[in-house]
Amino acid sequence: MSNVLLKVNGLKKYFPIRQGMLNTQVGDVKAVDDVSFEVFEGETLGIVGESGCGKSTTGRLLMRLLEPTDGAIEFDGKMISELSNSEMRKARRDIQMIFQDPYASLNPRHSIGKILEEPLIVHGMGNAKERKKKVLELLEIVGLNEYHAKRYPHQFSGGQRQRIGIARALMTNPRLIIADEPVSALDVSIQAQVLNLLQSLQKELKLTYIFISHDLGVVRHISNRVGVMYLGRMVELTASEDLYAEPLHPYTQALLSSVPVPDPTFEREQIIITGDIPSASNPPSGCAFHTRCPFKKDVCSQVIPKLQEVKPGHSVACHLYEAIQH
Ligand code: SF4
Repeated sequence: MSNVLLKVNGLKKYFPIRQGMLNTQVGDVKAVDDVSFEVFEGETLGIVGESGCGKSTTGRLLMRLLEPTDGAIEFDGKMISELSNSEMRKARRDIQMIFQDPYASLNPRHSIGKILEEPLIVHGMGNAKERKKKVLELLEIVGLNEYHAKRYPHQFSGGQRQRIGIARALMTNPRLIIADEPVSALDVSIQAQVLNLLQSLQKELKLTYIFISHDLGVVRHISNRVGVMYLGRMVELTASEDLYAEPLHPYTQALLSSVPVPDPTFEREQIIITGDIPSASNPPSGCAFHTRCPFKKDVCSQVIPKLQEVKPGHSVACHLYEAIQH
């Protein structure tokens, strides 16, 4: 087993809800609630769930783009949840992020060359000549050309812009990349190209990925292990092939039963979940999934199920996971 590169323990992010003239706090939105997991060096950990489940907030907390309410984040033996702002700026050299919409984060008035050079300037890396060389090297690595350095963001297609977003994330030679819905805004044909690029970069540059997506099909394609989130909590975490072959949590089972299977001889029982995802400002008691779960019993609304390892490397947070396996 590889080294643990990132260790997350009891991570929480509560956003206060304020009301009235005095701006009094009347509650919290529990966007991320007691999430723990590890990421091994060189792997891709997928994080999936419906919108509002806390997966993107988790990604931002790991980068400290948002401050955690509680919990510990340890990267390569260093407690990054305790670093000062200036220490954290330095640490971001090793942890970079790729966003869903790179266009929104590419300054339209700057050339691609300038955009790519910026992280090197921020981190004090190299002189002007070395920085230019690195820009051209990265453009080539992501499948663009030298002349693209002089162009501006609006002159590129969606797929090319995501390649620029990837090149920018790689400029500082990071070890961990957090990719937040990196292909969701792209056409399906382009999605495959960008996913293949991410996979070949991972091998070539020995990168570790956290790949956040609402799309189980995409996550399956790229991940070694997958964590499923529901309403701010991790409800299942296991190797990708186990999750797809033998999902233990009813929510995972329901998500998977709506994903088409390439093998026509394989039949998965259809589990329909009804109702909308409840509000994170007023989550259901006990297991947050109990309002939609077809298997719920009394205990489900009373006790929060803990994420626990029930088979080697396979963790689930469900009181009745054994009883509901077919
Ligand atoms: Fe369903 Fe109960 Fe398991 Fe929650 S704990 S997923 S409500 S069976």
